[in-house]
Parts: sequence; structure tokens; C-alpha cells
Amino acid sequence: MTKTCTTCPYCGVGCGVIAETQDDQVTISGDPDHPANFGRLCSKGSALAETIGPEDRLLYPEVHGKRSDWDLALGLVADQFKRAIETHGPDAVAFYVSGQILTEDYYVANKLMKGFIGTANIDTNSRLCMASSVVGHKRAFGSDTVTGLYADFEAADQIVLVGSNLAWCHPVLFQRIMAEKEKRPDLRLIVIDPRRTRTADVADMWLPILSDGDAALFNAVLVHLQDAGFVDWDYVSKYVSGFDEALAAAKSDLPHAEVKTGLTNELLNRFSRSFIERPKTVTIYSQGVNQSQHGTDKVNAILNCHLATGRIGKKGMGPFSITGQPNAMGGREVGGLATMLAAHMDLDNPDHQATVQEFWGSPRIANKVGLKAVDMFDAVKSGRIKAIWIMGTNPVDSLPMAGAVEDALKSCPFVVVSDVVAHTDSLRHADVKLPSLAWGEKTGTVTNSERRISRQRGFLRAPGAAKADWWQLTRVAKRMGFQDAFSFPNVAAVFREHAALSGFKNDGQRDFDISAYADISDADYETMQPFIWPQPQSGHAKKRFFKDGGFYTPDTKARMLPIQAPMPVEAKPNSFVLNSGRVRDHWHTMTRTGRSQTNSTHLAEPFCEIHPGDAADLGIEPASLVKLSANGCDVIVRALLTDRQRRGEVFVPIHWTDQFASSARIGQLVSADRDPFSGQPALKMSSVSVARYRAKTFGFFIATNAPKFATEPDYWALAKTDLGWRVEVAFKNALSINEVAEALHIRRQADLSVHASTSLDGSRVWLDGDVLTAGLWVARQPVALSRSLVVAALGRPLTDGLAMQLLSGRASVGAPDKGAIICACEQVGAIEIRDAVRNGANDIHAIGKACGAGTNCGSCRSELKAFLDEAIPIAAE
Ligand code: SF4
Repeated sequence: MTKTCTTCPYCGVGCGVIAETQDDQVTISGDPDHPANFGRLCSKGSALAETIGPEDRLLYPEVHGKRSDWDLALGLVADQFKRAIETHGPDAVAFYVSGQILTEDYYVANKLMKGFIGTANIDTNSRLCMASSVVGHKRAFGSDTVTGLYADFEAADQIVLVGSNLAWCHPVLFQRIMAEKEKRPDLRLIVIDPRRTRTADVADMWLPILSDGDAALFNAVLVHLQDAGFVDWDYVSKYVSGFDEALAAAKSDLPHAEVKTGLTNELLNRFSRSFIERPKTVTIYSQGVNQSQHGTDKVNAILNCHLATGRIGKKGMGPFSITGQPNAMGGREVGGLATMLAAHMDLDNPDHQATVQEFWGSPRIANKVGLKAVDMFDAVKSGRIKAIWIMGTNPVDSLPMAGAVEDALKSCPFVVVSDVVAHTDSLRHADVKLPSLAWGEKTGTVTNSERRISRQRGFLRAPGAAKADWWQLTRVAKRMGFQDAFSFPNVAAVFREHAALSGFKNDGQRDFDISAYADISDADYETMQPFIWPQPQSGHAKKRFFKDGGFYTPDTKARMLPIQAPMPVEAKPNSFVLNSGRVRDHWHTMTRTGRSQTNSTHLAEPFCEIHPGDAADLGIEPASLVKLSANGCDVIVRALLTDRQRRGEVFVPIHWTDQFASSARIGQLVSADRDPFSGQPALKMSSVSVARYRAKTFGFFIATNAPKFATEPDYWALAKTDLGWRVEVAFKNALSINEVAEALHIRRQADLSVHASTSLDGSRVWLDGDVLTAGLWVARQPVALSRSLVVAALGRPLTDGLAMQLLSGRASVGAPDKGAIICACEQVGAIEIRDAVRNGANDIHAIGKACGAGTNCGSCRSELKAFLDEAIPIAAE
């Protein structure tokens, strides 16, 4: 058995993972020694082993759809980029990279583009995630610095979560907070979110704020802080400028606070008092703050309150930006954004340009901001970009105006996509496809939200001809004529150069400095333990920033900014505010979690949360289908009626693509509105129309073979099960069960080995011997059956009694039926949990003891609380 310590590839918590391999079997567990998670993993991290394997991998380079080899493919990439640059200049090419790639990949991509091609046209999908935090930090601190540590959450007396569904999106941090709260019930948790999320369920106070009301809220807090005499004048006078202007702006906002936040004065005052009374407050902000037209101002409104009170850089207090992706922070460190240089240096600073150029010995250096993500694809569409290389991301699904992004790629003269899987919606448009190493195969470093750099280590053989992204980039760079600067013998050499640049001409002038690692040997890089930056060669490392000032501005003082909070957006007639975000068990565009049956059970199809009152007005019934429309595009998803949603607003998850559903690419509906400072798109504030989607035939289908439709249903959504697939379908026309079976090609899928089929009206199962190979249930309305019951039977021998239960879609009395799966790790369903509660389980531990739910990763614990509170779980049954 081999044991490898590595890091989870999903969210910005950056949990340590131990992968044990024996006879091609991989077992995943949390690393008890990793300081981010101390052995914990969430439902995504726990199921990583299910996402490994050769299925649907991109194994060989392809040129124009045909298998090729590296020499040919890389030669073509280099030639096409060179030709575009020679003919149209360096601004005619672009890289669109990703918070999924490793710091070493990012470093090489940035070096090639900014130092050798000579343009800053490299941006990352992290632009969609935390660009507003970067700009907010730089405006206030003069640097993009996350000031504190995760340990501050446990040392705080109060945690304020702004625009963060931490329970689902950063579950291990949420578990750390909840574990501390169990020990210290006085630790107060406040959630500020328009939706009553699972995080809000367990909060001591929930502020159902209007979308984009956060700046007005923190302006109100600033005024109250001053009125109550809680400004830390000593700190402000020594280390902060701009207090008077910021306070004046906040005061002018105060009369409108109720209108701008949608909160009552009573609630505003209660929150302000709580903020004032608890000096040890950590304010955590995430995508609900950043993904906004006012994201940067929201960040600065939060920072203003911490600067005014000197609650920064001290144990148990401070502002804290949580990143969404595993290496968003690493990208920031190497300058992966079109607005930054490298090693936290500035593109618009001539000294920084000279420093980087000197260090790289490069023939040129980018000296102006490049195209940010949305602008980049606009430039592709308008023909300004002639060649683009997309690495480890799927912009055809994830960017705003995703339909226009797809059109842009179709029209682009030369598109390169590096990816690990063979099929994504973006890969469809690649002239050259390059197979990259996946998690478990690649090696390098990532930085988590608390500035902790950890190793990702490979423990699996590279499949086919797959190669690391940094390797692909260096080979193209050499073919473009830059041999010397890109002759890295291995990934450790890339890290050494990155570390050396961070210390080059630094002398404490810049926050990011890991020059202590500039001479690390290959062997020491191999065994490198997680560490927090900065780690300068001088040895003067610090854990937290700014306790005693020392900001990275010309006068070393922080800047408080005058923030004018926006008025609420006037609702347009017949339109809803579209909020988008993540669900608990899926990740991005499901290229990884979609392969895992564990991750696919919790929420198995795309949905739209809508308030029951709005649904009634539109004639939308529970579990019916809804059509959301904007930008000339439609999305069809399942209706999920819930009073967790505000009236006039809907929520749709970001994950489903054309690979998993007929029409659920929510990015198509998102407008191109973005923050004027950061360029971050307002992914939580688009305007859509909503209507019932009228289907006359609904079906639920399970099969051991992957479905291949003869006639594509008008609606379908596909999810993996342990021994096959489950598919929801709907048709506009009234079809018989035979016609549905024909459309779904069931006979072919069940194959020639089908020996028998048996049916009742509206349902049918197919057997191979006594093993269930397929099942179909059809109705004129959404199919009501216990999906967990029939999914559990798929691929297994069937008894006569069970066959009849399956055909009816309901368990008979006394037979096991889990209901909708709530605990993915232990596969415990809603019915079992309700039974446990009915039988006396009165807290989460008792539920775990009774039925096992919540006893592994703990990601479902906030949902278990809903059962205790007799709330209705949102997972569709
Ligand atoms: Fe991975 Fe979950 Fe940890 Fe995030 S919280 S790094 S998804 S295990």
C-alpha cells in the first residue's frame, strides 16, 4: 500500500487529503495533520475516489477532431499563436486559465503571456469568484492581503457570514465553527443572505437582506460604531486615513438604510449592537458579496468597519475573504489575473514592471491591464482575439452570456483547450484539444483562503499521453523561440523560480514573499509541509497582517473609502431576480462530481427555488417544470417551491451543463453586468422571466447502461447511480409508455441479453435473468415514486415481491424505503431520518446514532437540524 498526502481539488478551504492506493484501489481520508481540516472532509472530498478512473478522459492530443501527438499539436499551437502575434500584435492572443490549475502551471502561463508574448491578456475564472475582494483589499490595504487565519474563527466571539452559504460551499470551515460553537454556545453566528440557506438555519441571527444591500448595512454599522463611541481612535489616528470621508458617506446613507437593505430598523440596530459589543468578530465574505455590480464597494464597506475599530490582524478578529476555488489564491500570487503582474506586483507600476522584467530577463513586459474574462470573450466575438488557449475551465457554461461565449468560440480562428475530460461544452469548439493531468496525477502547489500553501501530489499513473499544464506551456514557449526562460527540468524548479521572484527586490515592500523556499531542493519540495505565507529569506515570518499598521500604501496607512450604497434595483414587470450558486455535493460544471454516485444523490437534477406565492401566481406546481428566459435563451429545470426564497427572486444552481441536462446552462441567462472596478460579473443579480413549462408526458428512467436517446426528450436530466444511471424526462406531447421507451432506446440499452420484461400501466422494468437492468415510469404529471427505492434495486437481483413494488414505485408496508438521500456518505434518506426523529432522536448526535446520518463528513448536519425543526428538506423526494 502507498500513502500520499495531498490536497483536495475542490473549494478554497484547501483540506489535506490522504490517498492510500493498493492494487489500483484508492481510499481517501482526511489528513489529521493538515492545519486546514485536521482530518475532516466534506461530502465532495470524501467521495474523491469515485471520481478517479479512465472513463471519459481526454487521453491524447487531438487536432481538428482527430487523434494526434504532442509534437504535431504543440507545433500547431505555437505556429498559430506566433502567426497571430506577428500579423496582429500580442494583444490578438489570450489565455483563459483557472483556479483549478496549480500555482506552477499558473506561473508559467503568466510568465509566457506577460513577459514573452508581451500582453496581459491572461485572465482566470477566478475573476468570477473573488476579483472584487482583490480590488477591495488593494484599495484599502495597498495589497491583496487576506489578513487572518482559520484559527481566528475558533478564537472569535462572533462570526458574521456575508453572502456565504458556508454549510454547503465551504463545509469543513463550517464544521470547524460548529464544533467550536458546541463547546462554546456563546460563539454567535450571524448570517446575512437574501436566502434562508442551510447556514442560516443554524445561525443565531439571520438578516434576510435585499440582494446588494450589504454596503448599506455596513455603512449603518459604521455610523452606529461612531455614535456608540467604539471607534478605536488610537488605531485610526496612527494607521488609517479617510475616516471622516467614509463616515460622512455612511451618514448620508443612513436615512435610506431600511430601503436599501430591506431590513427593519430594529434588525439593523440589533445587528449593529451585536457587532459593536463583540470586539472579537470575524466577518467572512464570499461570492454573495463579490459577484455583484457593487462587489468592490461592498468589500470596502466591510473593511471600513474593521479598520475603524482596529479589529484587524489580531487573534479572533478581522475581515476574511473566502475563495471559492482550490487555487484562486495561488493565481493571485503569480499574477494570473489580467489586472496584476506577478508576485503581487502591479501592472501599472513602472518599478514593478522593471523588477519583473529584470528577474525574468524577458524581451518585453506587459505594461497595461489586459482583457478581463467577460471582455476577453467579447474581444473573441468581435474578432480582436485571433487565438485563445483555455486551460482547465469551461467558459461556455460558466461565464455570463454563455450563449454569446459559445458563439464567440465558434467564430474564433484558433481555439486550444487543455482539459482532463473528453467532453465538455467548451471542448466542442476546440481546434486543438490537449490532454492534461487530473487531480491524483499532477503535482505542484495550491494556496488556500488563509494563505496556506500545500502540496498536491500525484499518486496515479498518467493515463494515455496526458501531461501537466506547465509542461504543455513550456513546450509551446520553446517552440515560440523562448528556449532558455522555459527550460524547467521539473515542477520543483518552477516553484523555486516563483519563490525567488517573490523575494526579488522586495525588502518588505510587498506582502507576498516566500523567498525562504527559493533554494528548496527537489527532495525537500517532495516532502514540503503546508505553510502560511509570508516566509521571507530573512526568516521574519508573520502569521497575521496589519495589527500594527504597516499597510502597503505609500504612507503605510490603510484607506477607509467613502461608500455610497446603491438603491434597490426596480423590479421589471414580469421578471424575477436570478440568483445563482452552488449546491452541497456538486462542483462547478460537474466534470468530476458528475462521475460520483455519492455526489449525485443529494440533488439529482437541476432546479429552480421559487417562493410558493410566486409559483401559485404563475400556475407552477411542486415538481413541475419551469422555463426561465433571458438573453434570447431558455433554461428548463424542476420547480422547487420553498419559502426559503424571497418573493420576486429565484435561485438556480450553476452546475448543470449540456452533458447532464437538456437545457440547464444557467450562464446563458446571466447578464454581462459587472463591477466597474473589478470586472467581476454580477452572477447573483440577473433579470429573468419565469413561466411554467408545459409538458404532457413525464418519465423517470433507470438503466445500467449510459442512456443513448433515439429521440431526445424535450427535457432530460441525467445522474449517476452506484450501478448505472437515472434520468428524468419530459415530452411536450402525450406519449404512451411504448413511445417513451422507443424514444429512450431502452430495448437497445438493455441489450440483447434482455430475457424478460414485465409491466403495469405506466411502468415497466427490464430484467437480465433476475437482475434489474432498466426501469421506466411514465405519467401525465411529474412522476411520483420513491426514486431511492428503485435506484437501489438497479443492477441487482429482483424478487417477485420487489418487482411489484418497483412497478408501483412505492415500497410496501414494512419494506425499506429511504426517501430522498440527505446524508450522501452513509446514503441515509429523508424517511429514515424522519423515523429517527419520530422515535425520539432529539439532536444531531441522536439522529446519527439511530440511522447513521451525519456521522461521516458532517456536510448534511445543517439539513438534519431542519428535520429536528420540522422544516421540509429541499431535496426533491
Ligand atoms: Fe474539499 Fe470539502 Fe475541504 Fe472544500 S471543504 S477542500 S470541498 S473536503
